[in-house]
Formats: sequence, structure tokens, C-alpha cells
Amino acid sequence: MMAVKGMTIHQAAVRPAPLVDPFGRAITYLRVSATDRCDFRCVYCMAENMAFLPKQDLLTLEELDRVCSAFVTRGVRKLRITGGEPLVRRGIMGLFESLGRHLRAGMLDELTLTTNGSQLAKYAASLKACGVERVNVSLDTLDPDKFRAVTRWGDLGKVMAGIDAAQAAGLKVKINTVALRDVNEDELPHLVAWAHGRAMDITLIEVMPLGDIGDARLDQYLPLSLVRARLGERFTLEDIDYRTGGPARYVRVQETGGRLGFITPLTHNFCESCNRVRLTCTGTLYMCLGQEDAADLRTPLRMSESNGLLDAAIESAIARKPKGHDFVIDRRHRRPSLSRHMSVTGG
Ligand code: SAM
Repeated sequence: MMAVKGMTIHQAAVRPAPLVDPFGRAITYLRVSATDRCDFRCVYCMAENMAFLPKQDLLTLEELDRVCSAFVTRGVRKLRITGGEPLVRRGIMGLFESLGRHLRAGMLDELTLTTNGSQLAKYAASLKACGVERVNVSLDTLDPDKFRAVTRWGDLGKVMAGIDAAQAAGLKVKINTVALRDVNEDELPHLVAWAHGRAMDITLIEVMPLGDIGDARLDQYLPLSLVRARLGERFTLEDIDYRTGGPARYVRVQETGGRLGFITPLTHNFCESCNRVRLTCTGTLYMCLGQEDAADLRTPLRMSESNGLLDAAIESAIARKPKGHDFVIDRRHRRPSLSRHMSVTGG
């Protein structure tokens, strides 16, 4: 029989039984924070003087590959590399290159990333060569001064060059925009028209109460129900069935023909169809973005060169996946409902 990367065709075609949680949800999607570091300091995400993890606490790229591959062996079909900013981790393209083997073997449907775009001009062509087809680029404003104010350290020109390079390399780009009261709320119709004019979907995200950022997120919170109503005055929004397996709900904007998504963790619950878990760069597995319970995968990973202990730890973690989260923006205490930052768990 012919071999495909060390496997027979017969073996390559066999789909392993997926990991299934106590609520019958198959876990087919792993998000991996490759680093907690970032070259931006978005005001709703990080404090300016963030303390980052010591480098020795991080999984090496080889260890990240090993954990990802263990999940792929157990039926995960989609990997998203995120952060922090994944493209600032030294050697990160080596991880994409090595994970690309699972695409070629038919074990993985998608390898993708979420990025702030600052390094995309450098890496877009290599990402495409590794088998990446789509990237999510986070972008909250098209105004260079506002962009600098929101990201504290970012340069809009570099992100635009990154988006250009990604499209030129043949990557499909989706824009993610956090809706921020008094910051970009007036600009959202323009952002939608701009994204659709460049053949990019755009998803709007509500601010989530994750991580202490030094000032109250209540001031930034803008309910998407309101945003949607306002966009509805400007555009004709048509509900569509399109799903990416994620929490976004989509509409078609009739005037542009483009797709617009809404992620509303605070005003709607999207847990019943949750198919994902999240791995931090230190090897901690969070079974829910909005709950504290987590499993340490680094210890079993490092205790043995074979994957028996790791597999057992993954199984017992999935058996504890909670039914859902209960984020609240705590109006009384003005505190985040979870102390860890999005940059730790991976956005
Ligand atoms: N650096 C990459 C990027 O910029 O996309 C990946 C990590 S970033 C944490 C992922 C996404 O999370 C970004 O779209 C960011 O805007 C979003 N994000 C960060 N903190 C958030 C919060 N508290 N509420 C909602 N979205 C948040």
C-alpha cells in the first residue's frame, strides 16, 4: 500500500473517535496561545506595564507541536494559533510548518491563526506555503491616531501592509473588531463597508470582562444589540445560516453583499454548540473561556516521552468541560469576572 508521510492510505483515511464531553459535544477545535507576549497593548486587553511569563515556563515549540498533535490524533480537526501575538514568538513558522503535516495527511481540516497583522507582511507567503488558507486580523479602527490610542504601540500602516500581503499571498482575511463605546462606535458602518469592499468578512465582538487592565471595562462596553440596531438603520441586514462552528452569528449586508458577524458573549449564550478548548503557552488547558477550571498538560507531557499520560490528562480534562460560562461585567465591584487576560487564554 502507498505511504503518505509515514502512514498508509488506509490509516490516513481513518478518523479517530472524537473527544466527547459530558454534554455530548465533540471537541474538534483547539485554540493555542503560542505566547502571552504581544507587540501591542490594546487598552481593553492589557495593562501597559504587563508582566509576562518567564520564558522557561513556556512550552517549547516542539512541545506545542506534541500537544497539538495529540489532540489531532483524538479527533481535533481545526487548530487556531493565537496569543498574545503569535507571530512575535521566535521560530513560530517552524510550528506552522510542522503542523502542516496533519493537513497533508488529511487529519486536520484547518490550520489558522488570529493576529494583529503587524508581522503579516513578513510571514503571509510562508503561512500560505504551510497550508494556512485563512487568517483573522484584529482591527478596531481605520484612523491612524485612534489606532495608536487603542493599541498604545501599534502602527496602522504596518497592519494595512500586512493585510495587503495576506491577500496577495492568496490568504482569505477576516477582520475582527471589538466594539468600543465612544471609541469606534461611530466608525463601525465605515469599517463594515471597507472590509466588504476588500472582499473580507468582518465580525464585531463585545468587550469581555477578562483580566485586570487597570481601569474599568464598563466604560468600554457597548452592547452589540445596540450596534446591530444602528447598523440596521444604515444597511439592510439579512439573517443567514452561515456558521463557522464558532460563536459568531452572521448577517448578509444587502448593500455590500458581504458577511457581517456578531459575537455577543454578554448578551447571548453561545455555549450549547461549543466544540472548542484552549491551550495556553504554558500547557494549561482551559475547557471554557469563561470559567477558571483548567488542566495542567505540561506535567504529563514532560513526565514521559510517550503520550499515554498526556492522552489520559486530555481525556480527564474533557470529562470536566462545563456546560457554559457566566460572564458578567460586575457593575457593583467594577472588577473583571475572570482575572486572566485574553492574551493568556488566547482570543
Ligand atoms: N494578537 C492577536 C490579535 O490581535 O488578534 C491574537 C490575540 S488577541 C487576544 C485576540 C482577539 O481578542 C483580538 O481580536 C482582541 O481584540 C480580542 N480581545 C482581547 N481582549 C478582549 C476583551 N477583553 N474582550 C473582547 N475581545 C478581546
